[in-house]
Amino acid sequence: MPTALNLTGAALTPGAQRSWWLREALAQDPGQPCPPLSGAVTADVVIVGGGFTGLWTAYFLTERDPNLGVVVLEQDVCGGGPSGRNGGFASGWWDELQGLVTLYGPEAAVRACRAISSSIKGIGEFCAAHGIDAWYREGGYVFAITATAHERLCEEMVKLAREVGAEDELHTLSAAEVRARCASPAFRGGAYMRDGASIHPARLARGLRRVLLERGVTIHEGTTVTRLDGTTAITPQGAVRARHAVLAVNAWGVGWPQLNRRLVAWSSYVVMTAPAPDRLREIGWTGGELISDFRTSLRYFQTTPDGRIAFGGGGGRARRTVDDMFTHDTRAVTETAEGFRLMFPSFAGVPIEDAWGGPIDVSPTHLPAFGRTGASNVYYAAGYTGNGVAPARVAGEVLADLVTGADTDAVRLPMVDARPPAFPPEPFRSWGAAVVRRAMIAKETAEEQGREPGFLVTQLARTPRRMGYLLGPD
Ligand SMILES: Cc1cc2nc3c(=O)[nH]c(=O)nc-3n(C[C@H](O)[C@H](O)[C@H](O)COP(=O)(O)OP(=O)(O)OC[C@H]3O[C@@H](n4cnc5c(N)ncnc54)[C@H](O)[C@@H]3O)c2cc1C
Repeated sequence: MPTALNLTGAALTPGAQRSWWLREALAQDPGQPCPPLSGAVTADVVIVGGGFTGLWTAYFLTERDPNLGVVVLEQDVCGGGPSGRNGGFASGWWDELQGLVTLYGPEAAVRACRAISSSIKGIGEFCAAHGIDAWYREGGYVFAITATAHERLCEEMVKLAREVGAEDELHTLSAAEVRARCASPAFRGGAYMRDGASIHPARLARGLRRVLLERGVTIHEGTTVTRLDGTTAITPQGAVRARHAVLAVNAWGVGWPQLNRRLVAWSSYVVMTAPAPDRLREIGWTGGELISDFRTSLRYFQTTPDGRIAFGGGGGRARRTVDDMFTHDTRAVTETAEGFRLMFPSFAGVPIEDAWGGPIDVSPTHLPAFGRTGASNVYYAAGYTGNGVAPARVAGEVLADLVTGADTDAVRLPMVDARPPAFPPEPFRSWGAAVVRRAMIAKETAEEQGREPGFLVTQLARTPRRMGYLLGPD
């Protein structure tokens, strides 16, 4: 049973309820029922997973060919997973250039970044076209330096953008410039990325669901797919026999043989404050900027139109399967709330009203890959590593084009059919990930507090790089 957590006088039980976003979205519009699958049906395409990847894939399939029979199977409700419980960052990839250039070279790296830029705009256009009020706001993205060790990371990030000719996309900010956008005493300087929009993720997920139903897509919620038999999705109460199958299961991919060597599941948690618009005005954070620090165990935060802060922390843990630890971890909530209090001391009297967590599908390259699994006509997108809101729309377009055989710019993006190095097999993968994760957090906490991290902690935190993965500190 989850333990009640008392952060502010109000008992918070992470995992005992849906995310604040999803509760708000469902209260605003529960949508028409999508009962569980019962019996055997046929379709052109069956999609496993009703998050952004699955929903955008279905959307682009209806764009490419409105006559296709598309069935989405979701174990929970659409948006019940990370798509309806994330930090609401629809953000660019210019900060991912180091990995992109290493893997694909500068030209393809820039193409990938431009595709993500278009995806952010595309989310806003989609919402406007379909009357979805997902609180979409283009305020850009501030990277805030909170430790001396981050100064080099910031410099390198901006330098690389300049080297690939994208100096307009990312530029440095002095400490005063960062604080003019958000006056946290923890911020010592940083950088600004143009590509960044805040969204209400659950309203977007539920809006996508509504549009798909209007277009004749069949959605079965409360329907767990236990396995794929070729391209037939088997569920406890039925089956969907299809010509094509799409695995859009995010971190649950650790349980699928087609994906498990590509992923490690790490948790991330978000806390949500009560509305405090006056406090936001006092610190000058009224521009709607997305903000994060430079830690591997990232802290990321945005504001809502009614003056709340949604504050996420990638502390959490690594696990072998997606279990309760991804939603019921009171230690992770406490660490996230402590991060919030550290960065926003002027919000001392503002209660934290909600907290929730979810799994992140960490890939060996810190970047997702989209394409076919070994089996023909089975497609996947996975490895978002906590940055999936904008990339999942690109994935949806790519997967729809692969399914329909369309020859488009999307299918020539470098992350299509990319073959990242595999993680070690279990049990080494999840044990190793858990140990390395705690070492990274210990190292980053020491750096933030101005202490020298211990030798062992530093060496452990560097292990992924030494093994050839593009993860963690070098
Ligand atoms: C706390 C948190 C904060 C985050 N913050 C951000 C952020 O601010 N910006 C950002 O870009 N990214 C963020 N992310 C990551 C982002 O949410 C994901 O990358 C993105 O939502 C991935 O979409 P998806 O559709 O692939 O996965 P999901 O939304 O996880 O959808 C997969 C779905 O598959 C379903 N499923 C799994 N197995 C089965 C099965 N066997 N049968 C049927 N259904 C199944 C699940 O229930 C789930 O709904 C965050 C993630 C977390 C957990």
